[in-house]
Amino acid sequence: MIRSPEPTQLTDRFGRAVTYLRISITDRCDFRCLYCMAEDMTFLPRNQILSLEEIYTVAKAFSELGVKKIRITGGEPLVRKGALELLQQLGSIESLHELVLTTNGSQLETMAMPLKQAGIKRINISLDTLDPDKFKAITRTGDLRQVLRGIQAATSAGFERIKINAVILKDRNHLEVNDLVQFAVDQGIDVSFIEEMPLGVVDQHNRSESFYPSDLIRADLAENFSLLASTEKTGGPSNYFKVAGTQTRVGFISPHSANFCSTCNRVRLTVEGRLLLCLGNDHSVDLKHILRTHPNDMLALKQAIIAAMRIKPEKHEFNIHEQPVILRHMNMTGG
Ligand code: SAM
Ligand code: SF4
Repeated sequence: MIRSPEPTQLTDRFGRAVTYLRISITDRCDFRCLYCMAEDMTFLPRNQILSLEEIYTVAKAFSELGVKKIRITGGEPLVRKGALELLQQLGSIESLHELVLTTNGSQLETMAMPLKQAGIKRINISLDTLDPDKFKAITRTGDLRQVLRGIQAATSAGFERIKINAVILKDRNHLEVNDLVQFAVDQGIDVSFIEEMPLGVVDQHNRSESFYPSDLIRADLAENFSLLASTEKTGGPSNYFKVAGTQTRVGFISPHSANFCSTCNRVRLTVEGRLLLCLGNDHSVDLKHILRTHPNDMLALKQAIIAAMRIKPEKHEFNIHEQPVILRHMNMTGG
């Protein structure tokens, strides 16, 4: 049989090249952030999630198809046993330009240096508040001091770039945006503010009432900081501004108020091995099935990935004011 030549790039029906893969390596987490999970979560049994070897195989296939950037996320990626070894392996894929990580910071005090040594250059750390009581209220189980020690360890480890991610909720932490930017300036790191997305049913707050749009955050920041518009992109959905007179960049991820779908370059591998074509839709392909029914068949895997590009939706249709249409929580998919 003559096999068709492999494309070097993945392109969808709308002409968007897919060069960025986000991988959720676990649905488990030591926190229970109220916008991300219900308090009482059931996690998947081990045989339903991809093994680390299977994750590596998918990552390798994507890199051979032209993907240049991989983000490892979760759940909390650093609570998965073997996460560091997986990152080391991924770090040795030569065609990959960027291997990055999103973490809640709880494990960084001991893991920051090994991660740096594994080849991670950039790291995103979630931090929604600098108030210990609010931190406990938002994460339900987290300890702010532990995360701050983790951020300290990350700044000492010398990553090229560290960014704080903060989901801003009205009346929970919206009054803290200036403090978070000042914290980022003091640490010489960046910060991005995220509008909450209606992913999965959450039980402790009303997403419609807590919505706080990016333009209000910008107005709040303008009282204390001069934000200079920047054309800089990091391959993700953030729009960046530079804080005048500092090294700090402030990003806004605005899935509601400034739809970024037309430039989407991303797909996601869920913890169950589904290739998810859009965070805000359920279009997906079951790569775990292919991995397990065609073991060691890289060509079958790549063909499935290439074919999946045809079902990547044009855009998400989030409506924060209605019950979520997407029932999958963020920890399954990876932010
Ligand atoms: N546990 C890690 C962490 O918290 O950074 C990685 C996974 S977490 C799902 C990735 C990012 O998604 C975090 O910055 C988190 O704040 C964000 N996130 C979770 N649920 C969200 C939601 N419903 N809307 C917007 N962002 C959300
Ligand atoms: Fe865990 Fe991250 Fe979700 Fe918080 S946002 S519950 S830290 S996965």
